[in-house]
Amino acid sequence: MQKGNIGVTTENIFPVIKKFLYSDHEIFLRELVSNAVDATQKLRTLANCGEYNGNIDGLKVAVKVDKDAKTLTVTDNGIGMTAEDVDKYINQIAFSGAEEFLNKYKENANAIIGHFGLGFYSAFMVSKKVEIRSLSYKEGAKPVLWSCDGSPEYSMEEIEKAERGTEITLYIDDEDAEFLEQARIESLLKKYCRFLPVPVVFGKEQEWKDGKYVDTDKDKVINNTAPIWMKKPAELKDEDYIHFYHELYPGQDDPLFWIHLNVDLPFTLTGILFFPKIKNNFEVNKNRIQLYCNQVFVTDTVEGVVPDFLMLLQGVIDSPDIPLNVSRSYLQSDSSVKKIATYITKKVSSRLEDIFKNTRSDFEEKWDDIKIFIEYGMLTDEKFCEAAMKFALLKDTEGKHYTFDEYKTLIQPEQTDKEGNLIYLYATDKVGQYNYVKTAADKGYNVLLMDGQLDSHFIQLLEGKFEKSHFTRVDGDVIENLIQKETKKDVNLSAQERGTLTSVFSTQIPKVEGSNFIVSFEALSESDRPIIITQNEYMRRMKEMAAMQSGMSFYGELPDSYNLIVNVEHPLIAKIKEIALKDLSADVQPIDDEIIAKNGEIEGIRNSVKENEQLSDEQHKEIDNLEAQVKADREKLEKLISDYASKQPLVGQLIDLALLSNGLLRGEDLSKFISRSISLL
Ligand code: ADP
Repeated sequence: MQKGNIGVTTENIFPVIKKFLYSDHEIFLRELVSNAVDATQKLRTLANCGEYNGNIDGLKVAVKVDKDAKTLTVTDNGIGMTAEDVDKYINQIAFSGAEEFLNKYKENANAIIGHFGLGFYSAFMVSKKVEIRSLSYKEGAKPVLWSCDGSPEYSMEEIEKAERGTEITLYIDDEDAEFLEQARIESLLKKYCRFLPVPVVFGKEQEWKDGKYVDTDKDKVINNTAPIWMKKPAELKDEDYIHFYHELYPGQDDPLFWIHLNVDLPFTLTGILFFPKIKNNFEVNKNRIQLYCNQVFVTDTVEGVVPDFLMLLQGVIDSPDIPLNVSRSYLQSDSSVKKIATYITKKVSSRLEDIFKNTRSDFEEKWDDIKIFIEYGMLTDEKFCEAAMKFALLKDTEGKHYTFDEYKTLIQPEQTDKEGNLIYLYATDKVGQYNYVKTAADKGYNVLLMDGQLDSHFIQLLEGKFEKSHFTRVDGDVIENLIQKETKKDVNLSAQERGTLTSVFSTQIPKVEGSNFIVSFEALSESDRPIIITQNEYMRRMKEMAAMQSGMSFYGELPDSYNLIVNVEHPLIAKIKEIALKDLSADVQPIDDEIIAKNGEIEGIRNSVKENEQLSDEQHKEIDNLEAQVKADREKLEKLISDYASKQPLVGQLIDLALLSNGLLRGEDLSKFISRSISLL
C-alpha cells in the first residue's frame, strides 16, 4: 500500500472547501457525473481513432445511493485510471486546481458563477471519506483503490476489480444526509444532467403492480442524450421544437416562435431560444434561459451573456466559450461574451424580420403576445431598436396592424396640425374611452390602441424617434385641441362672464377622492357633447410611468388632474349661460365691482412705491387688509353662485353625465344623479 500527502501547503483545506462553498454543496454531483461522462467520451474518442480496440457498447454512468451504508456512488465504464493516473490527476494536478479556485474565491465571495475547476475535490464538501476504485482501459492495467478521509493524507493500494472504468464512493457527512435521499438526488440529476450526452442511470424504471409501484429490470435513464439544440436546424420539424420546449418547461402553452442558434466561428455556441406565451409575470421568473457547457447544465442566471431584453425568452444556450469561473462584471466586459450577446441580438432581430416578411399574417396574429418582447427590446437595446423599426407594428382600435412607415402615410393627410406636427392619437382602454375614440373617428382620424404594459414608455421612445410627431391620448383634450387646425373658433365671453360661469360649473362638481378638476371653455360644434372631461396627457403619463418605476414617486402621489371642458356652442350650455348671466348679474355685478375697486387700490399702493424702495409697515398692513376683503368678497360670490347653480338641475345633470361617461361618478354622487334624473323625467 502506498501512503502519501496530497500536494498542498494548507494544513487542511477540506474544512475550507466546506465552509466557503456551503450554499453550493449540491454541485459535487454535477462535477462527479461530468467527470464520469468525460471518461466515457474519452474512451469513445480513443476507439474512434483506433487506439482502443475493446468493446465500447453500452457506455453509461450510474448513480446510486445506499441509505444504510450512507454512501453515494458514481460509476462509469469509461477510460478508468491506473495508479499513475490517480497520482498525476488526483494527488497532484487536481488539487492545485482546487487551491487556485479557493484563492480566487476568497477575494470575492460573490465573484464565482459556475464552480468548474474544483472538480473531483468538491466531493469533500459532502463527504467524510471518498474512495476511488478504478481499472484503466490500458492493456494489463491493475485496478487501484484510492482513499482519503478529508485530511491531506491519502492511501492507495491494488485491488480486485473486473470491469473497466471508475467507481467513486462518497461516505456522506451526517450534516449532508439530504444527499442520501433518492428524491433529492433524482431532482439534482434532472437539474444538472438532463441533457448529458451519455446515459445517466439512476435506479430502475418502475411499474404499477399489485397495488403499488415496483422496480422493473429496466434501467431508469434520467437524461436525454441527444437534445435537439445539438442537431442541425434542417433536420428538425416544428413539432420537434415544440416537444423540446415542453420537455424543458412542462405545463406551458406552446411557444410563439423559436430561434435556433448555431455558430462555430468566432466562437462556438448552440442553443434554442423560445418566445413564450406569457400569461403572468410569475412564470417569467420561473422558466428562465438555461446555460449549458457541453450539455452540462451550469446555471439559469444568464445576465451578461444574453442581452437584458431577451431575459424574457426561454430555452437553452450551450457554449464552451463562456468563461464560467469569473465574476459577473468581468463576464460583461469579456470580449467573447460581448460578441455572443451581439450575435444573439442580431439573430433574434433577423429571425423576427424574416417571420414578419414571410408570414405577416401569422406575425400580426401573434403580435399582442410578442409585442412585450419587441417593445422591451427597443426600449433597452439601441441596436435592436434600429433593426425593429422595420417590423415593429402599431395596432389601431379596430384591430388593424401597420408598420411605422405605413401608419405615418395613413395619418399624414388628416392628422397634421397647423404647426405641421403629426399627431398620433391613441386609446389605452377601448371600452372606457369609447366616446373619445368615436368622436375622433367621426372626424376621420385614426386611433391607436396602446394598452400594453410597456406602452407608456414605448410612446415616449417613439416620440423621440419620430420627427415632428406627438402622441396624445384621445381623452387628453377635446379633439379640436389635440389636432389644432386653422379653423378653430374662439370662445366669446367677457372676463366677468367667464368668471361667473366657471363658478357655476366648478361649484357643482362632486368631490372625487384623489382627483381635481379645472373648468375651461371651448367653442366646439353644436353636435359635440356639452361637457367633456379630459385628462392632461403629460401628467397622466408621468403618473403611469411613476407606477412602474422607482424614483418617480413625486408624480405618483399627485392627484389625478382632469379638465372639465364646457362647450359653449352646445344649445344646452348656451341656455344655461344665458339664464345664469341674466339671473346672476344683478347680484354679481356689485360684488365684482367691489373686488375690482379693491384690487385697484392694492395696485395703487404698490405703484406708489418708488423703485428700490420698500413698502412701509403701514402699507403692508393696508394691503393685507384689502386682500382679506377681496378674499371675503370672492367667497361671498362663490357662495352666491353655488347656491344659485345648485338650484339649476341642468348644470349638475350635464356634469354628472360627463363624469358618468368617464366612469368617475360613483357611490352617493351616482345615487343623487339617478334621483335627479328620475325627478327630471
Ligand atoms: P477536471 O475534470 O477539471 O480536469 P477534476 O479534479 O474533476 O478536474 O479531475 C481531474 C482529473 O482526474 C480529470 O481530468 C481526469 O483525468 C481524472 N478523472 C476524474 N474523474 C475521472 C473518472 N471518473 N474517470 C477517469 N478519469 C477521471
